[in-house]
Amino acid sequence: MRKLITSMIACAVALGAMIVSLPAVAHDAWQEVKSIDVRAINKDVKPGKPTVDIGIYYAANFDEKFVEAVPLSGIMKEFMQAKKIYSKAGVQLNLLWVKSGELDPKYFSLQVSNLQASKPDDGYLNMYKEAVRQPNILSDHAQSAFETIIEPDENNNRTLYLIALQGVYMHYYDGDEKGRNWNSTLVRTGGLSFPSYMHGSTIPNRIRGVITLSRYDDKNHKIIAHELGHKLMNVSHEYKSVSPQHEIRMNGGLMVYGTGLEIPSGAEGRWHKERLHLSPYLYRADKNGNRVWNEDYKEEGFYYDSLYGDKVVQFEGQRKKR
Ligand SMILES: [Zn+2]
Repeated sequence: MRKLITSMIACAVALGAMIVSLPAVAHDAWQEVKSIDVRAINKDVKPGKPTVDIGIYYAANFDEKFVEAVPLSGIMKEFMQAKKIYSKAGVQLNLLWVKSGELDPKYFSLQVSNLQASKPDDGYLNMYKEAVRQPNILSDHAQSAFETIIEPDENNNRTLYLIALQGVYMHYYDGDEKGRNWNSTLVRTGGLSFPSYMHGSTIPNRIRGVITLSRYDDKNHKIIAHELGHKLMNVSHEYKSVSPQHEIRMNGGLMVYGTGLEIPSGAEGRWHKERLHLSPYLYRADKNGNRVWNEDYKEEGFYYDSLYGDKVVQFEGQRKKR
């Protein structure tokens, strides 16, 4: 590559300049969706109570079939359901806006994992501890998409962004019983939260609040609430006595696959509610409307970050015996 002729280098430099300028164009292109009455949606939000700011992006030029499958109206239904669930746990969801606009179609579908940086867990430690040693890393394509979509704002790193995308593919490894042979699995996600317990600080601070939505759950309307849980409680798929795993189907908890919506508390509930209330994405508005934020993560935001004090669960890794 370094031996390219001068004109090709000049061309590449020009192309580089063009790529750099793209985000500004895309940011300007987002407009608030006027048909959605944000003030009415927020009418129950009161100053002084723990609150999370959320923005929603939905591109105007998605493919027609995707719009049928994952309509903006469906996302709004899910958002309203999430408001109820978090309200029961003492947290208000404050909708900043819903925006639409032309998005470069190269970002409609993303493979989000950096494959070179991924490997199976050895199983000597639990998944949260393994993640500290080798956190998930975003693919360049995904990072570029999120930097393009999320508009710069002073509170970027304290805000959650729900971004509709047509396809979001995540990679992980599946091992045989002895843990000798591993298959590389690519999952098409319905929603993906890029949680701190898997990424730590590998996601640039400005875009750490990203959550993608690629499916609409027209039965339980649970996807948004569940994905918000990964970000706000900073836990994986776990519930009471069930330790985290990639996929677990059972009833009861918001953070497992199933119909459950519970955010349990106390040691028995794996401190879900307590962790939610410690989240750096929460603030209380003072009398003048100024946001007084919770403390930020003390380290990089992994599960055992000292922000959580004793609101953590110690558990064994799931080692496959050879
Ligand atoms: Zn999940």
